[in-house]
Amino acid sequence: MALQAIHVQCTHCQHQFKEIPERSFLGFQKLDFPHCHEKVIYPLTSGFRTTYFIIAAVIALSIIVNLSQGQIGFPGLIGLAIIYALIRDWQIRKSINSI
Ligand SMILES: [Zn+2]
Repeated sequence: MALQAIHVQCTHCQHQFKEIPERSFLGFQKLDFPHCHEKVIYPLTSGFRTTYFIIAAVIALSIIVNLSQGQIGFPGLIGLAIIYALIRDWQIRKSINSI
């Protein structure tokens, strides 16, 4: 899945520019601002976000099923990574909207 150039404003020096982000760990978009070399993480693309929500829902469901059978369910490493990604994504989007 190729990333498209996005219009961004540097949170550091307020310069605006258009750049193609790199894909970082867990699918976040990573930008390296050309003028001040500030590294900024941008939210997930919608495809990644949707996929993570679906996986998180499946994991939540399997935990509920486990609990209903008297077993304790754990999300596992992948589940934890996805929950982390969704929380992080929400935080990044909130901080970008507040600029
Ligand atoms: Zn900058």
